[in-house]
Amino acid sequence: TVQLFLVPTPIGNLKDITFRALEVLKSVDVILAEDTRTTGKLLKHYQINRPLQSYHIFNEHKTVEKIIERLRKGEVMALVSDAGTPGISDPGFLLVRAVKEAGMEVNCLPGPTAFVPALVNSGLPTDRFTFEGFLPHKKGRQTRIQGLVGETRTMIFYESPHRLMKTLEQFAEAFGPARMASVSRELSKLFEENIRGSLADLILYYQEHPIKGEIVLVVEGITGRQISDK
Ligand code: SAM
Repeated sequence: TVQLFLVPTPIGNLKDITFRALEVLKSVDVILAEDTRTTGKLLKHYQINRPLQSYHIFNEHKTVEKIIERLRKGEVMALVSDAGTPGISDPGFLLVRAVKEAGMEVNCLPGPTAFVPALVNSGLPTDRFTFEGFLPHKKGRQTRIQGLVGETRTMIFYESPHRLMKTLEQFAEAFGPARMASVSRELSKLFEENIRGSLADLILYYQEHPIKGEIVLVVEGITGRQISDK
């Protein structure tokens, strides 16, 4: 029997939640949430009345052992994050590993996550890709970017609006300004926008149109032609 469910929640549009996700949230003994206020709103919207307990990155290490003890005693729990799939650039991995190592079962429901629609909307190859999450802000940033210079797969990054321009410029420098890319913002929300172009085009575009909201940046891998140009 499953002791811990990971339940994906909407990344914007409240309707993007599965029937099964709602069923599981209604059935568990407790819902572990990254932010109990955010999740509280979702639960209220769907009239789900289960105890909420906070589980966030700052207390993840400390909390894991206590949770394992409670699961051993038979409590069934769901872990949710503020948006999307727990464990994807969100807390989750440490708990999943610990629960598995304790010999109990984990089940992650399929559901919303920002990188899949961003990738598919990009018009860049979807057959092979690498999810890079957030780049380090300072230390290790250039090393990470340089490590991707020969990457042939489509690359996916989570990015904040105020850092997008810097990232585009650093990518243009490292990968060349002609490299194709796509910026998806506010996926599933009112102001959703997917803009595709070369890194140089995107730099020009976002100089004219300062960006707000949540962003996924998708970048083409190095192609055979680009390799032979070098
Ligand atoms: N767990 C989430 C998932 O499954 O995608 C990711 C959580 S991470 C803390 C938040 C980042 O995801 C944002 O900074 C942005 O890069 C991306 N993101 C989340 N929702 C988004 C949306 N509606 N549109 C575009 N990007 C989004």
